[in-house]
Amino acid sequence: MKTDIVIVGSGCSGLYCAYNLPRDKEILIITKDIVEHSDSYLAQGGMCMLTDEEDYDSYFYDTMRAGHFENDTAAVETMIKSSPDIVTDLVEFGADFHREEDGSLSYTREGAHSRNRIIFHEDVTGKEITSHIYERVKQLPNVTIKEHWTMVDILCEDNVCYGVVVKKDDGTLDTITANYTVLASGGIGGIYRYSTNYRHLTGDAIALALKHGIELKNTNYVQIHPTTFYTENETDRSFLISESVRGEGAVLLDKKMKRFTDELQPRDVVTGEIRKQMKKDGTDFVWLSMKPIDREQLESHFPNIVKHCREYGYNVPDDCIPVVPAQHYFMGGIKVNLESKTSMDQLYAVGETACNGVHGKNRLASNSLLESLVFAKRAAIQMGEQYNTTKQKEFENIDITKYQDGDALAKEYKKLVLDEIDRLNNEAQQAV
Ligand SMILES: Cc1cc2nc3c(=O)[nH]c(=O)nc-3n(C[C@H](O)[C@H](O)[C@H](O)COP(=O)(O)OP(=O)(O)OC[C@H]3O[C@@H](n4cnc5c(N)ncnc54)[C@H](O)[C@@H]3O)c2cc1C
Repeated sequence: MKTDIVIVGSGCSGLYCAYNLPRDKEILIITKDIVEHSDSYLAQGGMCMLTDEEDYDSYFYDTMRAGHFENDTAAVETMIKSSPDIVTDLVEFGADFHREEDGSLSYTREGAHSRNRIIFHEDVTGKEITSHIYERVKQLPNVTIKEHWTMVDILCEDNVCYGVVVKKDDGTLDTITANYTVLASGGIGGIYRYSTNYRHLTGDAIALALKHGIELKNTNYVQIHPTTFYTENETDRSFLISESVRGEGAVLLDKKMKRFTDELQPRDVVTGEIRKQMKKDGTDFVWLSMKPIDREQLESHFPNIVKHCREYGYNVPDDCIPVVPAQHYFMGGIKVNLESKTSMDQLYAVGETACNGVHGKNRLASNSLLESLVFAKRAAIQMGEQYNTTKQKEFENIDITKYQDGDALAKEYKKLVLDEIDRLNNEAQQAV
């Protein structure tokens, strides 16, 4: 198959990239599951934005502090300054963010933010944003979306990317050649037993980058979310209890129902405190009390979290719920510049798969939807501008039967990624 631009992944970054590409280019989006099954649809808390110029320094500092000052400052500046433009687009698409009585946007707060600057739609902000982008993309005649089509490799030669090898929904293998390839395939949670991510997000693009010598950055920077709902049953995906619940006042309690930490510290710090407490108490979880949150506000702001807890027999806010840390977000990824260009020609990476350094060592809550959108748009604009410099190449004689055994391939790719994370963690430990 041939197309002009192939995008791997249909989360908010892949879809928004497609939306911003030139309309005269043929775009093919392939996605491993259905469109609605991406982490973008799971984002609960909200999306950060620059609320007014006066907040710039404070927003910048909060992002840097959460990232242990390892962030790329140009990327942080670009993300923050681009946020009003992104929000304008989303509102124009029809995304319905919570508003004050005077019609202005409401802002909530999460851990490590010194000010309220997060826009939200109940506790399903990611779905609200992504479904509206999806609606727009569906209307574009130049964009085709193929569900249950999985990238199993990229086509490349002499450090130029010419497309991907794909396993289609009917199990057959094929090549898709393109002038540009965009990796928008999300995070790596699927390779961990406990993660808030969809299970099919297994870092395939990261494995392929390792296989083909595409530069990576901070591959061992993996964020653990401090508060996911604990169940004794090993459920497939850990249900997230959004940080905004703590931002709105919920508190963490030990086994004697005593508060043991400041809940609004950066995620890695809160995770460390919870793990310490679990060890001390000899428990598999700590408690979270939502009692400090106004009842009406709890029901209206967090209806899905409330519903989930009640379905599992915890009548919040009267009952405390058990919570435990789980893998949540990947700060590292395929190294890209501010235009999301990778070290391989004709190859871009956007969203959680990419690492432009904006999050440093640890992501500030609600910065990832924004980052995904800002840098996906920048990638699209640059691809549009530079399209005439690209070329296609046929890969007719490639042996695609080696991709037939999907399970073996998944195992191989998982090992590649986990080994690299271990290697870097060992290196970091030795350096201390
Ligand atoms: C529970 C939860 C809550 C969150 N809450 C927030 C929040 O409140 N605010 C915030 O800013 N961020 C939040 N995040 C993070 C944020 O949702 C993600 O970082 C962001 O949506 C990533 O978007 P993406 O487009 O990069 O990837 P995703 O939305 O994860 O999409 C990845 C896509 O790639 C496809 N794919 C993967 N591998 C392949 C392959 N081999 N072939 C073809 N397709 C493939 C998948 O099918 C999917 O379509 C949350 C994340 C989770 C899990």
